Amino acid sequence: MMFRRKRGRDKTSANVRLVGRDERERATYIIYSAARLAAALDFLRQTPVTEEFVYLIVETPQGNIGRDLVYIFDESDGTPLALAPRPASSDPTPSETHCAWCGHFVVPVELPRLRFHEVVSSVATHVLVEGPLYKRGHGFSCEHCGFLQCAVCSGMTNDDADPPMPTCRSCGRELRFHMEDVPLHELRESSRLGPNGEIVLFPDDPLGDETWGLLPLKVPWTVDVEAFLAQPTLPYLWPGDDRYESLVADWGADARRMLRASWINVYLHHPNPDVVSECLRVARPDSVYNMTALADLLASPTAEQSLKTAASVALWALDSEPKVRMVLNLLLSRGLIASDYSPQAVHQALAELWATCPAEKARWFEEQLDDGEDD
Ligand SMILES: [Zn+2]
Ligand SMILES: [Zn+2]
Repeated sequence: MMFRRKRGRDKTSANVRLVGRDERERATYIIYSAARLAAALDFLRQTPVTEEFVYLIVETPQGNIGRDLVYIFDESDGTPLALAPRPASSDPTPSETHCAWCGHFVVPVELPRLRFHEVVSSVATHVLVEGPLYKRGHGFSCEHCGFLQCAVCSGMTNDDADPPMPTCRSCGRELRFHMEDVPLHELRESSRLGPNGEIVLFPDDPLGDETWGLLPLKVPWTVDVEAFLAQPTLPYLWPGDDRYESLVADWGADARRMLRASWINVYLHHPNPDVVSECLRVARPDSVYNMTALADLLASPTAEQSLKTAASVALWALDSEPKVRMVLNLLLSRGLIASDYSPQAVHQALAELWATCPAEKARWFEEQLDDGEDD
């Protein structure tokens, strides 16, 4: 059977004409011209830009407007005029780089942009990205389906400061931020002695926050942890850094408690086993801000077994189910961000937690291990 294609006039091509293409090193500009601004706007609304660094520009006598991955904008100064509409497919297309639902590139979140807030509730790690996700073309990924889902297709196009996490449109499960791939363990394990052998240099940690890892830090190889924490005023970790100091200022009356938690985090990451051991003995890691450091120690590829046992005992001694759960969520990567511990390290950490689990908690602990496992 023959189909006769309807020769309907393409409205946009009638009003908008391709002028040329300008390939630059970092960007591609595709230039059009139109007799009227309204036609240009119409055209841009209907012509998706699915890649980063590709710009459609329509020149008109009333001024030029453009479209990029996120916005329709005024070309003269880049001011966004409207969020560029994205097509919405009900039939997802799997991709490791593009949204399954609209086909737009999902810009991976760079880790240093993140700030972390641990919460005691169900999710171990809560992430705030600076500014709404859709403005930078960010999005999410579903570990179960393997689909990416951009912020727009997730319905996150308002400027809500702390929006609820969206769920996967395909399976309804929790999503994770789509992030650039960084070998975190390499950075974590690169703590090393300074040139004179007396100073430990901690590099900054891409998952770091103001209580650990925000910036590189030098500390002595030997520390009297008890005397240090007994000082009437605890020092800042990064004195003189504006961003850090403004974060500390937000702590207000909590500053001492937060600084104590911060230094405990430093000492739990210390490569000198005597420092870690003394820290666990004299300073209860009882803040929610210490749970990541405990998980790091339990899953450390280099820490001595006796330290892991001590860390596990210290965790149970807190007698706090939410805190044990936070550590478990981190070890099992149940948070929004994959924790990047090796499977073997996680296995050993769980074995240690089992071995030191108080008898009356055994049943609860078993339930926590089962809980949240899909399939
Ligand atoms: Zn999308
Ligand atoms: Zn899914």
